[in-house]
Amino acid sequence: MELWGARLYGNPCRDCGFGWSLSPREAVGLVEDLPARYGALVKGRRGDERHPELAWNIAAYISHVTDNLRNWAERLAGARLTGVRQVPGYDQDLLAQARSYNDVCLAGAVWSLQRAAEAWAESVSAALEEHVVLEHADRGVQRAEDIARNNAHDAAHHAWDIERILAYTDQSTGS
Ligand SMILES: [Zn+2]
Repeated sequence: MELWGARLYGNPCRDCGFGWSLSPREAVGLVEDLPARYGALVKGRRGDERHPELAWNIAAYISHVTDNLRNWAERLAGARLTGVRQVPGYDQDLLAQARSYNDVCLAGAVWSLQRAAEAWAESVSAALEEHVVLEHADRGVQRAEDIARNNAHDAAHHAWDIERILAYTDQSTGS
């Protein structure tokens, strides 16, 4: 079984400090606030800023968060609409390669994140109301509330990655 959530990252997350005790509604609110948070974070940036320890640039991180939200929103909608709970995993690195994340235009990535966050909030809110439960191929049982927290963490964690990248690039250019 693949480790995920607080068992993988620690509570709070040992990297970004995310606390896993938030309510599912708070997790939805966090994702709804994401586009504004990310938009402010990357305002005036190019998108190709990198940190030497990280494979992805800032446009790539945003594209990953977008695709992750879209994937989970789709899975929860599928289960809610049909009652079929089994969902496969997906390989985030293969997806990054297929979509050439590091070459995605930053403005387009931010635009896409806005739409993905809205669709995600709608799907997750409906799944929470109907107590949807998924059976994930690698992670086992995932309740809608687990997914709400896990996706909110992914988004918060990568905002932290972007902050690290920007701190690094600002320091190395002396700006
Ligand atoms: Zn984290």
